[in-house]
Amino acid sequence: MALGEFELIDRFFRPAGAERPDVVLGIGDDGALLRPPPGFDLVAVTDMLNEGVHFPVGCAPESIGHRALAVNLSDVAAMGGTPAWALLALALPSSDEAWLAGFGAGFARLARAHDVALVGGDTTRGPLSVTVQVLGFVPQGQGLRRSGGQPGDVLFVSGWPGEAAAGLALELRGQGRDTAMETRLRQRFLFPTPRLELGRALLGVASACLDVSDGLLGDLGKLAAASGCGALLELEDLPLSAELLAHAGGARATELALAGGDDYELCFAVPPGRLAAWEALRSASGFVAQRIGRLQPGHGVELRRAGVPERFAHRGFDHFPH
Ligand SMILES: [Mg+2]
Repeated sequence: MALGEFELIDRFFRPAGAERPDVVLGIGDDGALLRPPPGFDLVAVTDMLNEGVHFPVGCAPESIGHRALAVNLSDVAAMGGTPAWALLALALPSSDEAWLAGFGAGFARLARAHDVALVGGDTTRGPLSVTVQVLGFVPQGQGLRRSGGQPGDVLFVSGWPGEAAAGLALELRGQGRDTAMETRLRQRFLFPTPRLELGRALLGVASACLDVSDGLLGDLGKLAAASGCGALLELEDLPLSAELLAHAGGARATELALAGGDDYELCFAVPPGRLAAWEALRSASGFVAQRIGRLQPGHGVELRRAGVPERFAHRGFDHFPH
């Protein structure tokens, strides 16, 4: 690369993120020295994004920087954690300075918004690929897991699943004159919002939680399986946004919400005895989350609409057909 590794990190990534007093030694040595607070467990997550697999070829660098961090913050949120530190490994076909500036800006804006310090990085030449690792904290012994649910626990999903998948389809269609509605859907793919405040609020309230990255239906199945039970999903309660319904129509909107992916919403279970606490929390904090069903004995996800069983042909979505 034209720029040396340290120069590149210094120029584009050292300012990328928050300053934190618990960073004893940041970027520039062989490793970072970090001081976790006493009384907390460390939450460690990592996620890799490859061009043409996790984002379209030619995707805006600001979006790639944002998403590379956001998908990790979403995993921290699913554990009920508070993020603190991030490490970044970047493979680049060339040191394109405009691209790096955009990527750094997208990454930095989200990092600062959540008080995350970038404490290490590596860059190499290769096909465009971004791997981020985030470390955070959760009060000792309290981290949320997928496995704590019981039959009878009520299931919720945050936000508006399906919008990001509709936005990705617009991205793949290319740039055009978007309506305001299309712009909103596109932004939901390009700049997902990790639900960190909600995840923290669910500590001591949710019995099981995960983030929806691969489609609600499949991810809910993972939560149910980890909890050793099945799930009932009531389709009439699926939160479909007015924008998604207007854009895609009811049937397609339902498909996108069930199987579209890239939502980065939280799906969680609340035991009946904690529902009042959750409702109080929700109305006090204004969290957007919809009741969508409940855990039940058995296995797999059962779909019903107004009590009538329904089948969903999981066709899957090949986002990047070859
Ligand atoms: Mg996850």
